[in-house]
Amino acid sequence: MTEVLQWNDGALVREVERLSGTAVSACFQCHKCSTGCPIGPDMDLLSSQIMRLVHLGAEQDVLESQAIWLCASCEACTTRCPQGIDIAAVMDALRMLAVERKAALPDAHGEQFNRSFLSSVRHHGRVFELGMMAAYKLRSGDVFSDVDKVPQMLGKGKLSFWPRRSNVKQVRDMFRRAQQEDEPA
Ligand code: SF4
Ligand code: SF4
Repeated sequence: MTEVLQWNDGALVREVERLSGTAVSACFQCHKCSTGCPIGPDMDLLSSQIMRLVHLGAEQDVLESQAIWLCASCEACTTRCPQGIDIAAVMDALRMLAVERKAALPDAHGEQFNRSFLSSVRHHGRVFELGMMAAYKLRSGDVFSDVDKVPQMLGKGKLSFWPRRSNVKQVRDMFRRAQQEDEPA
């Protein structure tokens, strides 16, 4: 842990609870969420450690962690929590805060992937995988990794050259509403 805590006024817990809509403060550190997390072995902080650091107000440690960007939103932690805490929503909230507060990211690829994914969904109403991959590669500069798999995936119909659009207007309205909710009153 790098951050030295001088004073914790509970502001981080309140903000994460507001954004996630779940009772972060109810966590009693049983670690059940961490033991069920499929990404846990690759994370720099386990989900239970994230929860504790949020309690402690260690904003920098949490927002600059790799874990919040590695989280796959699989919700295994959420289903295991005896306190009914939606830990996956907490991870979402922390990603939002990291972007909003311009946290220094240990590895920007997760955030670049997120942006590429959301931009594809906003544009097409659903994800257009090939377009999203191209956008991600342009953002990240990671141009050549995995390109050898593209012909195989195209051949098996896992990727398409053309986007399939669906409910574009509704999805864009949803993004617009989310953006309005995020704007300060
Ligand atoms: S939602 Fe994220 S933190 Fe929770 S189990 Fe899945 S990968 Fe781990
Ligand atoms: S499972 Fe729930 S109560 Fe247990 S450490 Fe994780 S968040 Fe806290």
